[in-house]
Amino acid sequence: MTVKNKIIVWFISILVIVFSLAFFIIYSLSSSFLKENLKKNLSQTVEKNADEIEYYFILSGEDENIYNQYIEYDGGFLEIDDDFLNTVDGITIGLYEKNGNLIYGENPLGEHLLKKGFSNAILQTITVEGEKHYVFDRKLDGIGVDGLWLRGTVSEETALSGLKSVSKIALIILCIIVEISAVIGIIIAEKILKPVKKITQAAIQIGSSKNLKQRINLGEGKDEFKTLANHFDKMVDRLDEAFEAEKRFTSDASHELRTPVTVISAQCEYALESPKETEEYIEALEVISRQSKKMSSLINDMLSLSRFEHKKGNYEFCDFDFSTFISELCEDLALVESKNITLYTDVEKNIQINGEKELLERLASNLIMNAYKYGKENGVINVSLSKKGEKIFLSVSDDGIGISEVDLPRVFDRFYCVDKSRNNAGTGLGLSMALEIARLHGGDITVESTLGKGSTFTFII
Ligand code: ATP
Ligand code: MG
Repeated sequence: MTVKNKIIVWFISILVIVFSLAFFIIYSLSSSFLKENLKKNLSQTVEKNADEIEYYFILSGEDENIYNQYIEYDGGFLEIDDDFLNTVDGITIGLYEKNGNLIYGENPLGEHLLKKGFSNAILQTITVEGEKHYVFDRKLDGIGVDGLWLRGTVSEETALSGLKSVSKIALIILCIIVEISAVIGIIIAEKILKPVKKITQAAIQIGSSKNLKQRINLGEGKDEFKTLANHFDKMVDRLDEAFEAEKRFTSDASHELRTPVTVISAQCEYALESPKETEEYIEALEVISRQSKKMSSLINDMLSLSRFEHKKGNYEFCDFDFSTFISELCEDLALVESKNITLYTDVEKNIQINGEKELLERLASNLIMNAYKYGKENGVINVSLSKKGEKIFLSVSDDGIGISEVDLPRVFDRFYCVDKSRNNAGTGLGLSMALEIARLHGGDITVESTLGKGSTFTFII
């Protein structure tokens, strides 16, 4: 069963249960209240009528009242006051002799009623043709009336008929309300679940066509489906990015490896083609050695990059003294003997950092080694570490070859080298790795450079 149908079924069931329960409770309370009222009314009417009957042995002239009834009884007269109520509010009263003979009033149930024996001041019930009746008897006492009984009868239907017709109308109204609510429920459920349809369609399309460009695009908003859709879109964004990066990396890597492999195989073919002079063999071997070193460093860089990508979320950061760390690294790197370059440091003391030592060492040494690599003869490198406010700045400046405005935006791209033909050209992975490390620490790397004058790379965190 679909979620939509489940919601509708639950909604309607709960609606019907709640309404039925409310109806049942109101009906039961009202009917028991009405029944109690009816019983009270019955006994009160019988009791009142008992006071309206008197007995006279002889009727004198002044006792004659034209409005009252006089019934000959037991050698005297029974006077029934005109206040005597035969039938009122559905209650029927009859005056009976002990043997059941009706001498005044009415017996609405005939034989059925006579079968029920008299029982003083006790409410009895009798069911005739499925209809329940209440019976209340009152034994008359006093001179002349001993042995007479007043019996009141009322049908339960009298009390409940009004309630029953109101209930019928209420039931019809309830059915209409349930139907209308069900229709509204269906419309609301469809409207609420519409985004789910979109999410499902997008997921199916991504799954079937492997099109990671597909998005749900439910727009901004705080409702649960929009939040889910936005997170889904962001997840696909990241998958798409990772997938694209993977593709780019694989094609770049194979492209980068193809060049040294081609050069090596060309040199081998050339050397094997025909007998050569020793110098020519040496030259060919030198080319092969250079290219294989390049391949080896490329493979090493690629391996560390891939290790870094895999381990990204699992590095353990710790707090340590970044000032001491940079000073010691510079001391070591100052020993690099390259182009007679001098390394100067200007490190502010006691700067603390939270990070991963091995990665930060790789970042800093990449920047410093680039400064050596692209520095000029007898040049200088300045490494400075400072803190302004909450930000730490590690900058590495050189007075080397610099980078042109055209190349500047691309130096952080993977495998990008400004001049590949240069002998000491690297793999072009150093800066991209450094930038990834900076970002992993929540920082960034900026670069300023003038062609022919030098460059400054700054790690800001
Ligand atoms: P490796 O992967 O061995 O570091 P690489 O040094 O060529 O190789 P990156 O460190 O990523 O690669 O640098 C990318 C390019 O940016 C370099 O090829 C170089 O042309 C340029 N570059 C980097 N640093 C400097 C610098 N300090 N001065 C001038 N050019 C630089
Ligand atoms: Mg480099």
